[in-house]
Amino acid sequence: MKVVIVGGVAGGATAAARIRRLDESAEITVFEKSGYISYANCGLPYYIGGEISDKEQLTLQTPESFYARFRIDVRVRHEVIEVNTSQKSVKVKDLTSGRVFDEKYDKLVLSPGAKPVRPPFEGVDDARVFTLRNVEDTFRIKDFVTGRNPEHVVVIGGGFIGVEMAENLRGLGIEVTLIEAAPQLMAPFDADMAAFIHAEMRAMGVNLVLGAMVDGFETGDSFGVRLRNGEVVRADMAVMAIGVTPDTALAKQAGLVLGLKGSIVVNDRMETSVPDVYAVGDAVQITNFVTGKPALISLAGPANKQGRVAADNICGLSSRYGGGQGSSVIKIFRLTAASTGINERVAASEGIVCDKVILSSMSHAGYYPGGKIMTMKVVFENSSYRLLGAQIIGYDGVDKRIDVLATAIRAGMKVYDLAELDLAYAPPYSSAKDPVNMAGFMAENIMNGLVKQWYTEDEPLLPRDGSVILLDVRTREECRSGALNGFVNIPVDELRERIGEIEKDKPVYIICQSGLRSYIAARILAGKGFDVYNFAGGYRYYAAVKNDKLCSVASTACGKDAD
Ligand code: FAD
Repeated sequence: MKVVIVGGVAGGATAAARIRRLDESAEITVFEKSGYISYANCGLPYYIGGEISDKEQLTLQTPESFYARFRIDVRVRHEVIEVNTSQKSVKVKDLTSGRVFDEKYDKLVLSPGAKPVRPPFEGVDDARVFTLRNVEDTFRIKDFVTGRNPEHVVVIGGGFIGVEMAENLRGLGIEVTLIEAAPQLMAPFDADMAAFIHAEMRAMGVNLVLGAMVDGFETGDSFGVRLRNGEVVRADMAVMAIGVTPDTALAKQAGLVLGLKGSIVVNDRMETSVPDVYAVGDAVQITNFVTGKPALISLAGPANKQGRVAADNICGLSSRYGGGQGSSVIKIFRLTAASTGINERVAASEGIVCDKVILSSMSHAGYYPGGKIMTMKVVFENSSYRLLGAQIIGYDGVDKRIDVLATAIRAGMKVYDLAELDLAYAPPYSSAKDPVNMAGFMAENIMNGLVKQWYTEDEPLLPRDGSVILLDVRTREECRSGALNGFVNIPVDELRERIGEIEKDKPVYIICQSGLRSYIAARILAGKGFDVYNFAGGYRYYAAVKNDKLCSVASTACGKDAD
C-alpha cells in the first residue's frame, strides 16, 4: 500500500507514524511545503519571547529522525500543487529545485492545516506586518525583534495567538498594543470571564483597544496601524492574528465537497467525499460534540486524534472521531485560562436556554499555604441540566479542573453529577470538596429549589425603591472597600439576631464576597419563610466585571475604543 500525506505537522505526522505502527510494509511519503516537519506550532510564540531559547526545541522530528525511526520518506520544501483523484496521483513541486513531478497513491491523507486570515488591507504586504503560522514566520519575527529592536508593537487580534504574542513581546520589554474588533478578548470565554483576562493584560502593561476594527497600515517611514475610524496607532511593527481559515485550495481543486469556510467535509472515519482520500486537522469540518452542529476547531488535540483515526481506517481498523468540544488552556502572564464545551454566548446563539453556576474557589485547602482563588463558570442546559461547557480562570489547578469538566461533558453527565465525582484530595492539591464537586452541589441546590440565583446582568434592573430588599452579608470592613449601590449591610453572623430588620413580604437579593456566606444567609432567611435570591459569583466577581466595563469606557474616552 502506498500512502501519500500532504502536510507533515500535527495531523499529518501523527497519521504517518500510526500507519507505520500498524503496517510495517506500507510505503509512506509525506510532503511538507515548509522547511520543517512535526514542529511545535504551539511553542512558536514562546521562542519569540525567549522562554524557549533553543530553536532545535521547536522541531520535534527531522526528516532524518523520522526516517530512522519509522522508515517514512519525508520531503520538506515540497508542495503538493494538484490532486488527480481519478488517476490517484498528486503533482508535487520541489520548492528548492523547481522540479515538478507526479506521485501515485493508494491512499491520500490531506492535513494542510489552516492559514492566517490576511484581508487585502492597504499596506498589508509591508515588511513590518507579520503573521505567525510556522517556523519560518517565527524566525522572521524573531529576527525583526532582535535586529530592529522595536519599541512598540501592535498585535491585531485577541485570540490565542494574539494574546500569546502580546505576552511574549511584552516579556521582552516591548510596549504592546493589542487591538481586537470584538468588545472582548478570547472568544471561548463569556464577557464576564474575559474581564479577568483583560485585567491581567492591563496590569501587565498591555494597552487593550477593544471593539476597534483595523482597516489598513501606513507604510511610509513612520509605520502605523489604521483603524476604521481614521485613527492611526503608530508602532514599529504589527503582528496580525485575526484568525485562521482552512488551507483548502488543493481540496477545492481536487473536487472534494467543502463545508464551513471552505473546510473539507469528512465523515467520522475522516473520509472525504472521494474514495481513498482522507482529511484531518484544521482543514476539516467536524461536529461540535455539544451542539451536534458542523464546526471548525483549530486545535492540536483534535488534529492528532483525527490523524490517528484516519490511519486506523486506512490500515483496516475501524475508528471513529466523535467530534470536538474545543477544550483549551492558555497561559496569560500569571493567569491560566481554560475552557471546554460552549459558553453562554454560543448557547444563546444556538437557541439553547441555559443556566450557570459561578464559583470563586481556592485551588487547594485554605489552611495549607499558597492556595489561590480561581473563578469557575459552569454552564448547563436549563431544562435537562446537561453540562454544556465550563470556563475557569485562576492560577493553580485550573488545568486539572477543566480536564475533569471536559471529561464529564464527554461522558454526557448532568451538572449535578459533578457532586458525586470522587476526586483526589490532599491539602496541597485540592479541598475535600473540590471546586468541581462544589459546582455540582450548587447545581443540585438549584435543582432541588434550595437556592434561587440572581446575576450581574440583573443588577441594573433591581428596583432601588424599597420594593425589594438588597442585602450585603459581608463584614463592615469588606463593604467599606466597595459595595453595590443601595445594598444594606448585615453581616451573616449577625443575621439571625437582626432578622427583624428585614421586611418579610419582599423578595431579598443577597450578595457576599464569594457566594458562600450569601448562600448561608439565603438558607437562614429561606428557613424563616423569606423569598431569597443568591448572587452567582460574589462581589469579587461582580467587581471584576464592573471594573472591566469602567476600563472600557475609560478607553473610549481616551480614544482607545475606536470603532
Ligand atoms: P498544521 O499542524 O498547521 O500542519 C499543516 C502543514 O501542512 C503545514 O506545515 C503546511 O506547511 C503544510 N501544507 C499545507 N499545504 C500543503 C501542500 N499543498 N503541500 C505540502 N504541505 C502543505 N493548538 C493547541 O491545541 N494548543 C496550543 O497551544 C496551540 N498554539 C498554537 C500556536 C500557534 C502560533 C499556532 C500557529 C497554532 C497553535 N495551535 C495550538 C493550533 C495547532 O497548532 C493546530 O491546530 C494544529 O497544528 C493543526 O494541525 P494540522 O495538521 O491540521 O495543521
